[in-house]
Order: sequence, then C-alpha cells, then structure tokens
Amino acid sequence: MPTVYNWQLGRKMHYPYEERHPRWQFAAVFNTNRCIGCQTCTMACKSTWTFSKGQEYMWWNNVESKPYGGYPQFWDMKLLQLLDEAHQREGREAAWDPSQKDGAQRPYGVFEGMTIFEAAVKRYGPEGHTRALGYIPGDEEWRAPNIFEDTAPPYEGDRMGFSKEGVSLPEHKTWFFHLQRICNHCTYPGCLAACPRKAIYKRQEDGVVLIDQSRCRGYKKCVEGCPYKKAMYRGTTRVSEKCVACYPRIEGKDPHITPDGVPIETRCMAACVGKIRLQGLARIDQTTGDWAGDRANPLYFLVKVEKVALPLYPQFGTEPNIYYMPPRWVPRAYLRQMFGPGADDAVNKYMAPSRELLAVLQLFRSTQKIIFRYEIVEGKKVFETEINGKPWSMYNDTVIGFDKNGTEVARLTVEEPVYTRPAKHPNSI
Ligand code: SF4
Ligand code: SF4
Ligand code: SF4
Repeated sequence: MPTVYNWQLGRKMHYPYEERHPRWQFAAVFNTNRCIGCQTCTMACKSTWTFSKGQEYMWWNNVESKPYGGYPQFWDMKLLQLLDEAHQREGREAAWDPSQKDGAQRPYGVFEGMTIFEAAVKRYGPEGHTRALGYIPGDEEWRAPNIFEDTAPPYEGDRMGFSKEGVSLPEHKTWFFHLQRICNHCTYPGCLAACPRKAIYKRQEDGVVLIDQSRCRGYKKCVEGCPYKKAMYRGTTRVSEKCVACYPRIEGKDPHITPDGVPIETRCMAACVGKIRLQGLARIDQTTGDWAGDRANPLYFLVKVEKVALPLYPQFGTEPNIYYMPPRWVPRAYLRQMFGPGADDAVNKYMAPSRELLAVLQLFRSTQKIIFRYEIVEGKKVFETEINGKPWSMYNDTVIGFDKNGTEVARLTVEEPVYTRPAKHPNSI
C-alpha cells in the first residue's frame, strides 16, 4: 500500500492511493468561541442544496452541541471506540509525541497511533474490502440534526447537578459548546479511499471533494469510510451525496455577487451571523504537499503561524481542511482528544491574543469575497490590562483584506467605530 505524508500527524501514513495534491486547497477557520448556535448556516445550506425529496434528513452543514450532541448521533464517540478497540487488539496506544514538534511542518508533534486507514489494513489486510475503519449509522441516528441541543453535563459537586458557586475560567464545571460541521474536503479523504467504484475525486484546482453521481452505485462505502459522517445516502436516487463546497461560488461564477469573477465564500460561511467563519484557499506546495509558506494569507497565519486554529480529530488521518479555534472554557482533556495536542496552546493564545492575531480576527465575515492577503496598518495603544498575570496591551490597528485580484475588499479597525445618530432621527424608522 502506498504511503503519503500527513503534516497534521507529523509522519507518513498508509493510504490506498499515491500522493497527489491540488494547486489550491479549500479551507476555513471556525471560531467556536463565537458561535451562538443559531443554525443560520445550516438553513443557508439546506435551502440551497438539500431541499428536495429524499434529502429530508440530509444536513451537509450542521451545528451540534458538544459533548452529547451529534449528527448522526454519537458519530465521533462511535468512531473513537472503534479505533480504541483496534489499538487494544494490536496492543498499541493512540498517543502523540509532542516533543517532536517542528515549526509549521510538524506543528503538533508526531501521532504514534493508527489512523482509520492503518487500522483497516490491520483488520482486513492490504487488499481487504474495507480501506477505512468506519461504520454505517442506522436510520434513527440521522433523524435528529441537533439532538441534546444546549445540554451541559451535570455539575458533579451537587446531588441535583446544580452549581451554586458559579463558574470561572480556565475551565467551567458545567459546559457545552457548539461544533459547526461541514465536509472537511480532506487531503486524504476516507470517503474517496473507501469507494470501490472510484466515483469520488478531489479537484485539482481547489481540492474540493466531489462524488460523480453517474459512477456511484449507492454501495454506501463512503458513508462507512468518512470518519466525520459527511457523505450521505439518498434513498430516492440510490446514490450518495455530500457537501460540494458551493463550488460555483469558489469558481467566482455568481455574476450577481462577483461580476469580476473572484472567488467568494460558500453559502454557509457567508450567512454566518456570529461572524465565526473565515474561508479561504491555501496554496499547496507541489513538492511537499503541505501548505506553501504564505505568511500574509489569513488562514496560513491562523493555522500555521499562530497555530490558534486546529484540525478536528487529526488522529483519524484524513488531514481535514476545516480548522477550529477551540472553546476556551471546556476541560482541556476533552479538547486534546478532539483537536489534538495543540489545544492548550491554541486556547492560551486566543485568551491573550498577539497584536497581529487580534487584527486578523477582525476579518471574519467582513466580506463575501475570499481574502487571499492581508496587511496591517499600526494604530495607537488604546487599552492595557493583565491577562494570566502578564501585561497585555490592545492597539487600534487597521487590518486590510485583498481578494484574488489584489483589490481591497475589507478594512476594519480593532476598536469598533461608534456612530451617534443625530437627534432628529432618534430611531431608525
Ligand atoms: S469529511 Fe468525509 S466526506 Fe468530506 S472529504 Fe473528508 S472523508 Fe470525504
Ligand atoms: S460549503 Fe456549501 S454545500 Fe458545503 S455545507 Fe456549506 S453551504 Fe453546504
Ligand atoms: S450561522 Fe454562524 S453563529 Fe450561527 S450557528 Fe452557524 S456557525 Fe454558529
């Protein structure tokens, strides 16, 4: 079986196909700290792509309340359990070695456990019928897109589960958070690896993963092999479907919004009320397969330089391309399991952001056009305080975003400007 390099794991891993990379990679950063769980993103996707017969239970974008919620129900716990059993059979541990961290190339150290591909080889052999360890959820597991909404674990220090003491950072005793999920357009997709018909492909131009419906025969191997459960079966057509990354928008082919043809953000990103999402395209180095060093690209800065945004369950091995800024009030062990060993640093950096990070955070949802480059114009100091016992200052810098053509599309200051309505217009009517 070929081996490929997975930078999120810091090592080579088995994959059924030879290493090959797109020129650009669709990617995004989601700031879980800001999400209000309004599901506007969910409805933006539904009303665009999955409103037809046979798609009633199909939510390509969903927002679930962790720790209990999931769509399909318990998708991550079930896969973690399968992987745990696989490690126990082999007498191995799904452990990380963070001591082998090395800059942007190996930012989280080395994963020493088995991925879904390696666990499948161990279980079924290199020529086995299953190339990615997984399972097919039952119909009842797809029924509720947001089961356990806003449900927190009970407070353990009280018989009734209520805390009378209140809570404070760094970790809350009762907690939940919203996890926004779309297809990760993985570098090494589990769905693609699992498909016996070779009906799934990754586009050269933007790394978007699509299903060729004319080749699909509805065997559901993609549903089984996607660890994130983002490939879905449609009973009325008997083929599988998945998030298409709103590719006409990425291609700049929506003339109402981009007469100049520059790439624009997808429907779920553009509709986000909480301003938690920043979408982009990462240039891929064709020699290494890794993101090309592109310091002025906001996604590169957040993921590779500040390392404040992390992949979801990197240990699965698909190299997912949606990155998360972890919620800062959640027990760290939970975050480490979900986002890998970079979780502690990411939370600490978000709580006391660097001057540049604070400016880049302003770019989230500031324009529908995809920002390829940013610049910062320094402003004056406006605030001083102490965070975690260390002095921290805030500067009113201006961040400027540019689209693919190099045209300015966003300009924001760290301090939000205040406009006072004239007395003769006391309200907006
Ligand atoms: S998230 Fe799932 S469906 Fe999407 S590319 Fe990765 S493996 Fe395939
Ligand atoms: S990128 Fe487009 S297709 Fe994918 S979840 Fe978002 S709105 Fe839906
Ligand atoms: S629209 Fe934004 S804030 Fe609302 S649920 Fe979706 S990701 Fe969260």
